[in-house]
Amino acid sequence: MTGSIKGLERFDSPTKGRSLRVTRAFKVGELIFSSQAYSYVLSLNERGCYCEFCFTRKEGLAKCGKCKKAFYCNVKCQKGDWAMHKLECSAMMAFRENWCPSETTRLVARILAKKKTQKERCVSEKIMLIGEMQSHVEDVDNEKREMNEADIAGLYRFYSKHLDLPDHKDLLTLLSQVSCNGFTIEDDELSHIGTAIYPDVALINHSCLPSVIVTYDGMSAEVRAVKDMKPGDEVLISYIDLLYPTDDRNNRLRESYYFTCDCQECKSKSKDKAKLKVRKRSDPIETDVINNMVRYARKAIREFRALKHTKNILLIIITWSLFELLEMCEHSLEEMGAVFDDSNIYMLHMMYQAMGVCGCMEDLDGAVRYGEKIVKPYSQLYPPNSLNVSSIYLKLGRIYMLLDKPSMGLNAFKKAMAIMEVAHGKDHLYLKELRKEMAQK
Ligand SMILES: [Zn+2]
Ligand SMILES: [Zn+2]
Ligand SMILES: [Zn+2]
Repeated sequence: MTGSIKGLERFDSPTKGRSLRVTRAFKVGELIFSSQAYSYVLSLNERGCYCEFCFTRKEGLAKCGKCKKAFYCNVKCQKGDWAMHKLECSAMMAFRENWCPSETTRLVARILAKKKTQKERCVSEKIMLIGEMQSHVEDVDNEKREMNEADIAGLYRFYSKHLDLPDHKDLLTLLSQVSCNGFTIEDDELSHIGTAIYPDVALINHSCLPSVIVTYDGMSAEVRAVKDMKPGDEVLISYIDLLYPTDDRNNRLRESYYFTCDCQECKSKSKDKAKLKVRKRSDPIETDVINNMVRYARKAIREFRALKHTKNILLIIITWSLFELLEMCEHSLEEMGAVFDDSNIYMLHMMYQAMGVCGCMEDLDGAVRYGEKIVKPYSQLYPPNSLNVSSIYLKLGRIYMLLDKPSMGLNAFKKAMAIMEVAHGKDHLYLKELRKEMAQK
């Protein structure tokens, strides 16, 4: 295995430590490099929709004859996956409905199994080894420590039969590494498909004005330029959702990645005013009232997020009816709407949630109503070529088609396509599928 990738160079930045830069020019949409996953795992919710081994999305996958829970393209994929699937196949049958490791636990088990057989540098470690990834194990707060302990308990309970587990300290380090460096594999609508580790891609630092975007082809990560780059330019991705204003973004970065961003946008805060736009009234709204509403909005977002994190979507549907969830969104939109403009990001956040809930309820008119309010501010507030923007156009386009409004659907698809051609590359399966969807109308 080589210790380098053509067109790229690892370097030490005085402020950010290990970093990555290009050694030649790259044009918008050009593939800078791609990387196979070191380890990866398909989400339980996606079983049956994607092949567990190659992450191909298609119908008619064949299931594992033993557990009947894992699905594959063919025998070749099933054989390829066995080294990993055997960690779970018999345990799932033994524990039945009590088999409930977290996705992190499942991924860590796979990393440990791979480490046992992989002694040399692997194809995903051309410029950074998995062991070199940041852990920040000493910065972990109590809440995360508890989560890590629960994941370790899961490893002992569900995986110790097939794995020799390292000592507690090493497990904590590995879990911290995974939480700082794990990538969420997402589809064209940004739905979560799985989690993976790409050491080489993990070398890339964060910026709120990223120069590259990561998309996925099967379980491989592809890094493409989203702006023209010249030799020496740093390769920068965004670790977080860039919709939010500077303070919120940096709170998120400190919470999850233990640093504060000093990119141009964080210094100038040029988009903060538009992101926090207040309703125009003849009597101007007082600063106190605005600040209180920002606090209210942040709390509502946190609560909604906690609800989605702690329970999977099925549990939410059992405990909270979708109708109740929608009411929650509508209630906070009403409260905030007295102060915030419709294009304020806290309003957009709730409208996006409401759109998702309407989608689940098959209330297409409701989903379209929210979607239409979101798209325009989204394209203004996100940086150019954002997947958040393409995915909302894609969702909207698909709903228009279902509502039998083909010309509006095609229009939305074209907007999604322009971004996806840059981010995914013109030949990506998602674009082929999209062209087919467009040709049918
Ligand atoms: Zn496959
Ligand atoms: Zn099986
Ligand atoms: Zn920044």
